Amino acid sequence: MNAILAKLRDGGSRLWHRIAAWRTTLPATRRRSRLNRIVVVEAGESTPTLGAADALLVRSGMRQKWLRFACPDGCGETIMLDLSPKRSPHWTVEGHASGAISVYPSVVNGRCGAHFLVRSNRIVWLASRKSRD
Ligand SMILES: [Zn+2]
Repeated sequence: MNAILAKLRDGGSRLWHRIAAWRTTLPATRRRSRLNRIVVVEAGESTPTLGAADALLVRSGMRQKWLRFACPDGCGETIMLDLSPKRSPHWTVEGHASGAISVYPSVVNGRCGAHFLVRSNRIVWLASRKSRD
């Protein structure tokens, strides 16, 4: 299982490097390609200072409650994902031995159209899904 995951990750990484190289030729984009650091705090604890690309994982004992990070397209909005399985919608955060996380399912910010996956802290951009109204 781990070997398969590692192989998938390597393949994905090579592809990502190609995409990243291509992206740098585009005019001014502020899109991030990864979350930097995952900071874990207990609910009610004071929040440490976060870097612009850091994510805050709030938990209560063993239960994960929230994942908060700046929208990686650079629009300035803060994304708050509810991780409580009792709520709808909610997301699942998988922690890896490296300290990185993956988030399921994909994340959509209806206000700016950002639509992406988080896989081992890497942001995998998907087709924009801006809500129209
Ligand atoms: Zn955004």
